[in-house]
Amino acid sequence: MLRANRKNGIIKFMETKINKIDRNQIDEELIQEAGVILKEGGLVAFPTETVYGLGANALDEEAAKKTYAAKGRPSDNPLIVHIADLEDLDEIVESVPQEAILLAQQFWPGPLTMIFQKSSIVPYGTTGGLETVAVRMPKDPIALKLILAAGGYVSAPSANTSGRPSPTDAKHVWNDLNGKIDMILDGGNVEIGLESTILDMTVTPPMILRPGAITEEMLEEVIGTVSVDKSIMGEDTNSPPKAPGMKYRHYAPKANLMIVEGDLKEQIFAIRQIAYERSREGKQVGIIATEETVGFYTKGIIKNIGSRENEKTIARNLYRVLREFDEEDVSEIYSELFAVSGIGSAIMNRLEKAAGHSRILAHDIVKKQRYRRIVFVSDSDTCRGPIAAQILKQKDLRQEYWIDSKGLVVLFSEPINQKAEAVMKSNQLSLEGYTSKPLVPKDLNPDTLILAMEQNQKDKMLSEYANQDGIYLENIYTLNEFVNDDLVLPDPYGQPLTAYGECYEKINILIDKLVTILNSFTEGEV
Ligand code: AMP
Ligand code: MG
Repeated sequence: MLRANRKNGIIKFMETKINKIDRNQIDEELIQEAGVILKEGGLVAFPTETVYGLGANALDEEAAKKTYAAKGRPSDNPLIVHIADLEDLDEIVESVPQEAILLAQQFWPGPLTMIFQKSSIVPYGTTGGLETVAVRMPKDPIALKLILAAGGYVSAPSANTSGRPSPTDAKHVWNDLNGKIDMILDGGNVEIGLESTILDMTVTPPMILRPGAITEEMLEEVIGTVSVDKSIMGEDTNSPPKAPGMKYRHYAPKANLMIVEGDLKEQIFAIRQIAYERSREGKQVGIIATEETVGFYTKGIIKNIGSRENEKTIARNLYRVLREFDEEDVSEIYSELFAVSGIGSAIMNRLEKAAGHSRILAHDIVKKQRYRRIVFVSDSDTCRGPIAAQILKQKDLRQEYWIDSKGLVVLFSEPINQKAEAVMKSNQLSLEGYTSKPLVPKDLNPDTLILAMEQNQKDKMLSEYANQDGIYLENIYTLNEFVNDDLVLPDPYGQPLTAYGECYEKINILIDKLVTILNSFTEGEV
């Protein structure tokens, strides 16, 4: 990944130094060394509490050009100037409104960027040609010391290749910028994980151009009403976003990312269904799940992004997870949806951008799932029911079902009938270790297809549970009735092994028909 720089006709490779630095015991010499690089027009990546920044001297037009080149960033996308001392603000802006002073007192150092009219010392190279300048005072002590060592004004966009997820770890910076910058200060993982909130102070009321860890509510507590640029959530797509950087596809993993919309339960069922269908085609999808939902997924490459109870953990992990998917063999990633309040609006803003605003309606997928469970019901649950369930589990179904069997007269658990097991074995299947279970009222619900082996079993369920509250009787069929076949399944109990063999064959025929019917429900591509 070394980049050749042509200088005086000689090809020179830029070597990127990477130096560990401990924010609790900062190596002053290293800071001075990095400060000199910046003063001389070089590039140093450093940790801030939001993401890693790619530092350059903000007052040096040439340094700004290098920054754009290293990132591969369009040069109309302005840089944020980082300061370490509030007194330094006056030098680079025309005037500081009273509200900005209140906000600075409350949130600086911290993840808030404010936009002002620029003063003449700020080059257009830094502001992307704009008359305004974005300023922030970061909180990380490494960043603060470095800014002072560099002379007080450090422009620092995120230290990633333009378009990729922002770096939350020095390793991410190395992967993107090795050979293109002079030094990386490795301060470990960042605290917040999402870029700063950007607030435009040149309009009344001030306007949020990019959501971040300092939320709309937090700002309003200090200065009253603020407005929000409508385009940041992709709502008002006709007008371009006011922070030029927000118009680019951003934060994107290599795979196609899609956000699955709906209530959480539907999201989970839809993502499960997609992952299951792709796995039938021999492919794996990526899944962005949470602490609370991760256990519901079985197929695909599943990543836990953090806890819905503590959304800060989601913010912190988002970019790392998006980058990790680049190492996996997935061409599609499906993400659950997060609430858009508090820091959630910053999370969803980044996720939407990473997804290029592509969303899938969970309901469109879930509505095709007429049933989610299939339960075969017999008397004792020791022969026909378990055989039917086991055969169905081997079939190629387009939907993932929980398949089970239950009995109507199961007083205590019994193993599978020995002759049934012998027939299973001769068909390369087994029910060894299976023990019978009784049907319980909650099995009769709208999600579950109940398939009895015989008419009298169906009748018994209908009469036993008639007029009982909370019991759903509409999904009860006999197996042959459901598949529209006359084939009956008499109980082989007490008869020779051949009768069990015949019973197995009949069940197999009916199950094949069942598969065709079940698969017709989920017809059509996801
Ligand atoms: P990054 O440095 O990667 O965090 O991106 C900086 C963001 O701040 C980009 O979205 C820029 O468009 C935005 N920004 C910087 N300066 C200005 C400005 N003067 N006016 C509006 N947006 C700005
Ligand atoms: Mg960026």
